[in-house]
Amino acid sequence: MIIFDKNQITMNDIIHYFESIPSLHRALILAGGIAIFWLIESAIPFFKFQYNKWQHAGINIFFTITTIIVNFALAFILLKTADYVTKKEFGILNWLPKMNPIAFTVVGILLLDFIGAYLAHFTEHKVKLLWRFHLIHHSDTYIDTTSGNRHHPGESVIRFVFTTLGVLIVGSPMWMVFMYQTLSVVATQFTHANICLPKKIDKVMSYILVSPDMHKTHHHYKLPHTDSNYGNIFSIWDRIFGTFSYMERETIIYGVDTHMDPNENNKLVSLLKIPFQKTRSPQKE
Ligand SMILES: [Zn+2]
Ligand SMILES: [Zn+2]
Repeated sequence: MIIFDKNQITMNDIIHYFESIPSLHRALILAGGIAIFWLIESAIPFFKFQYNKWQHAGINIFFTITTIIVNFALAFILLKTADYVTKKEFGILNWLPKMNPIAFTVVGILLLDFIGAYLAHFTEHKVKLLWRFHLIHHSDTYIDTTSGNRHHPGESVIRFVFTTLGVLIVGSPMWMVFMYQTLSVVATQFTHANICLPKKIDKVMSYILVSPDMHKTHHHYKLPHTDSNYGNIFSIWDRIFGTFSYMERETIIYGVDTHMDPNENNKLVSLLKIPFQKTRSPQKE
């Protein structure tokens, strides 16, 4: 009983922190995460890319900043939605029997990951109009930690809509959204970083969480791998719904077979235009 109470206090402290997490802390987690993985991948890179790391980072950080701006500009919608579901006791979390704070948090985070991330990502791959925007994330032929938030501003809006829908359906309070987004930022930087875990550890990890090799398989330039591993933090959704795939890391080639020109994929203006251009067929090998 004492242990349970202790946990409860700790969990409540964590909840309290996320209820009023300062924007500065969120910015520091984002920048700090990139810095740490940048140092590791510079010291022990997995792929020895022949690229200008700073120029490549410049493009991806531009897209990270536009993502932040889009989310900041629309944040009031998310706040209002979370407020609404809490007040009206709407959404799955509110319809489930009362749970202790730890169970409530775990179930909520899992549901947000499923609806707001897995289903959103799956839809982006299946609906042609949405794929046009998500394609920019896949066009990176040098995946490193900065690739994690390489999203066309149009995609940032699309993802925002899915996140809001997720909050509505799950019925999650705002602190849980902040907690999920914080975990998601670090998870994304980790799964994109140009590092390699010992193969066994990566494999074991991929039973519950998205591992680096698992997400990098998603960045392989050819189908069917591009259309697999939609998970964001947890891999269980891919395991349950049969969308899991795993490639030997040495055989992965990053990119997307319709857009393999490195000049185009490393130029900001070209990338911004891609969603509005004619559909292309896969390039011949
Ligand atoms: Zn994708
Ligand atoms: Zn990715």
